Amino acid sequence: MSIKMDGKLVAHQIKSTVKEYIERNNAHLDLTIVQVGNNSASNTYIKNKVKACEEVGIQSTVLRYENIDEYDRCVDIPDTLKHITGTGAMLQLPLPKGWDENYFVNLIPSRQDADCLTEASLGKFYSSSNPYIAPCTAQGIIDLLDFYNIDIEGKRALVIGRSNIVGRPIAHLLETRNATVTLAHSKTRRSDLLRLFAISDIVITAVGKPDFITEEDAYQYNKDYRHDFYSYFETKSNRVIIDVGINRDENGKLCGDLSEDFKAKYSEYYSPVPGGVGPLTVANLLYNTVKLHHQEHKNDQDNV
Ligand code: NAP
Repeated sequence: MSIKMDGKLVAHQIKSTVKEYIERNNAHLDLTIVQVGNNSASNTYIKNKVKACEEVGIQSTVLRYENIDEYDRCVDIPDTLKHITGTGAMLQLPLPKGWDENYFVNLIPSRQDADCLTEASLGKFYSSSNPYIAPCTAQGIIDLLDFYNIDIEGKRALVIGRSNIVGRPIAHLLETRNATVTLAHSKTRRSDLLRLFAISDIVITAVGKPDFITEEDAYQYNKDYRHDFYSYFETKSNRVIIDVGINRDENGKLCGDLSEDFKAKYSEYYSPVPGGVGPLTVANLLYNTVKLHHQEHKNDQDNV
């Protein structure tokens, strides 16, 4: 029987650590969230972040820019991001069409970069074999694997998707934990992708397409490669599948990149959507805020 991993439970533990840190140190932490435009998914994500801040005792401020004009884009918003005050800050993505996200994200001072997405923060992240701070979703995946005592060292890991917020950083974290990592993307040959899936111990999907690999794919693959026992698409394998995708199916229901049935069939452990990686992304935003606070006040606070 496959085990459904409980992201909410792990997120709850991380939030408790954050809360304890704040109470123990009698610390004041605040997080500023900058939103540009009125994307409905972003509104939901921000609502969840604000709620999570309230739960642990971090003060949150949302700076919302709606009906933006050229002055806002060229002067006001850059100025806000550059001179942000407080413990941590983040810019909610996506920005409106045509905006250079990289430029705006990089205006946030790295000492306040709670998402760990600026070039300065990522430079430290990628040059370290034991990063102090990591992009939230990638760290959340590691937390989930650790909670379920899943060995990473020496394992074959396949990461599908190479975005800066998920695919690349999780590939780096897995590699720092001594996994053998393959990073697949839209130009990866489909036959290679399925073969890699079949032979991997840990599969992370961060694609953004529902039913990205299906039962039919597995069936067809096994038929085509029936003489290759090494890479047979086994059902009862001890594979771990972490599904990062957040999509809507044809009925408007939240779903991951893989169906829940598919994950349960081809893994020993799998993360559901919703209730898998999502809550951990938010929890790690709070935890990163604690880390930023700790870094700033190293001499007068205890350990994180
Ligand atoms: P993204 O920037 O759009 O990246 C998608 C990646 O998938 C790209 O690297 C792309 O390859 C790859 N890809 C697309 N089609 C493919 C194919 N046919 N075969 C193999 N690879 C393919 O997306 P993202 O920001 O990383 O997000 C990915 C998903 O995770 C989305 O559903 C998003 O909503 C979700 N997400 C969830 C959380 C969470 O907390 N749970 C956090 C962040 C994101 P190329 O690079 O070649 O284009």
